[in-house]
Amino acid sequence: MSGTTELVLLGTAGAPMPVAGRAGISAALVVDGRVFVIDCGRGSPSAFIDAGLDFTRLEAVFLTHLHADHIGDLPGMLLYPWGVRVGDNGPLAPIRVYGPSRPDTVPTGDAAFHRETTIHPERPAPGTTDLIGSILAGYAYHLNVMPLDARMPDAGALVRGFDIAVPAGTAGTPRAPILVFDDGVVRVTAVAVTHGHAVPALAYRFDTADGSVVFSGDTTVNDDLIALAQGTAILVHHVADLGYLARHGITGAALERMAGLHTDVTDVGSVAERAGAGELILSHYLPAEPDAITEVEWATRAGEGFSGTTTAGRDGLRRTLGRASS
Ligand SMILES: [Zn+2]
Repeated sequence: MSGTTELVLLGTAGAPMPVAGRAGISAALVVDGRVFVIDCGRGSPSAFIDAGLDFTRLEAVFLTHLHADHIGDLPGMLLYPWGVRVGDNGPLAPIRVYGPSRPDTVPTGDAAFHRETTIHPERPAPGTTDLIGSILAGYAYHLNVMPLDARMPDAGALVRGFDIAVPAGTAGTPRAPILVFDDGVVRVTAVAVTHGHAVPALAYRFDTADGSVVFSGDTTVNDDLIALAQGTAILVHHVADLGYLARHGITGAALERMAGLHTDVTDVGSVAERAGAGELILSHYLPAEPDAITEVEWATRAGEGFSGTTTAGRDGLRRTLGRASS
């Protein structure tokens, strides 16, 4: 009996600021009915249910990095479906949340960009397990009081956080992918990518019997990502149009900083080509507004230099990976 692997884009907007007509960054990979979510941007729990996905089948969430546009609706993804996370034998297995560990140091910035107030100075740059602990602490009222008025599964079985440690690398030397998860059906590997001061930031590769899907996260052109994505069926890659931003008031040091965070639309096609990807699916658009740049323009410009298929991703887009008959 054969199963399937299906990719669903839940949201495709870039940057934290909400825009009309596009949800924040999030995607789901459904493997034989098991659901894995990559990033939980704005609106992802609603998009999850709109896509017809089943919260009782949500097994794990993978966070590329801890900027708010990637984690803002993680609390909702965990807490809204809490009540259905129960089976005949008690609570379902905890939702596993994988993401970056705490960085070793917290950068201070420079003259052009720096913070004035350091929030929570005793732990100014928490990692994924810290984040999960803080979500549970912040929602303790709900978690401790709601079970007194409604039958709820044990809150202690709701979620487990897992930090992905990135070994220190040597500049100019390729870094081997980190094995994050492997149960014999789904194998997840990750590499550190380059997203300004967001260190560590990760890209993920999912391998199943049907093929592979790679999620770039937010990054500049990165050789380790290209190595991770070798031969992938689908590369879901974020994209920015730095020229558009320059024409709309982002200039000087601010534009340079944006170039240190993102892959420009003129570069993403060659990334997909070097990776030998089958299909490049664009997501996490910057600018995020759907009417800023048409899907045709995004796909046409991004596809230059890429011999595979380039698709402008949109919220709700689905792709089924073909399984070779066995
Ligand atoms: Zn982002």
